[in-house]
Amino acid sequence: MIPGARLIVLGKQGAGKGTQCVRLSHHYVIPHISTGDMLRAAVKQQTELGREAKRYMDAGELVPDGLLLSMLEGRLAQDDTRGRGFVLDGFPRTTVQAEALDALLAPRGLDLVIDLEVPTSLVLERLAGRRVCVDCGTNYSVAAPPKVDWICDVCGGEVVQRPDDTEAAIQRRLDLYEKETAPLVSWYEGSNRLVRVEGTGTPDEVTDRIVRVVDESRRTKVVEHP
Ligand code: ADP
Ligand code: ZN
Repeated sequence: MIPGARLIVLGKQGAGKGTQCVRLSHHYVIPHISTGDMLRAAVKQQTELGREAKRYMDAGELVPDGLLLSMLEGRLAQDDTRGRGFVLDGFPRTTVQAEALDALLAPRGLDLVIDLEVPTSLVLERLAGRRVCVDCGTNYSVAAPPKVDWICDVCGGEVVQRPDDTEAAIQRRLDLYEKETAPLVSWYEGSNRLVRVEGTGTPDEVTDRIVRVVDESRRTKVVEHP
């Protein structure tokens, strides 16, 4: 049986985190934990958290750390992540979140943080064409739409442009990424947990690159799994 893994994928908006995390989740048989998807589900269900988070999300602002941390703490306490691990998508996004995550995961910690590198010109192009299923969150694009009429191939849901994929909100998220999240790359590098992976090319090419570095890091380091 393939061992589990505890992975984080970093990368700016449109770098392909969501797409790659779904693939890594299948490959390593680990849950894909996307804070963006969890927040969008809370917004849709109109929970208290969802109502609070929505105004930040629509403006492209970060949702306050306290809300994120309690949401994630609950998720990481569930059996699937305790047993197999996880691939985290969209978290951590600030140094405060990264430190809190280390505390939550102690003593076992993380296996690897993957920084998916894509030039800004390319992510702007990808985000303008991005479309997403309102029900299951599967990503599509104008260039690669669902088979039938903007109906999700996976679940039959409606495929639309995200409310925060406006030009102003995208710009704000990219600015915040540079300011708040990019410093995490050197933060994780400093503790020897980071690998950089080129995020250009087809999704399959990128997945192959990531799987190669994850497997390589497993070979060179003794990683304990339950
Ligand atoms: P993107 O990567 O395009 O910004 P996500 O789906 O990851 O999209 O996140 C959508 C929104 O959810 C963010 O703009 C932010 O408002 C909120 N969000 C997601 N993850 C976090 C986080 N770790 N900390 C704060 N806010 C978050
Ligand atoms: Zn769907």
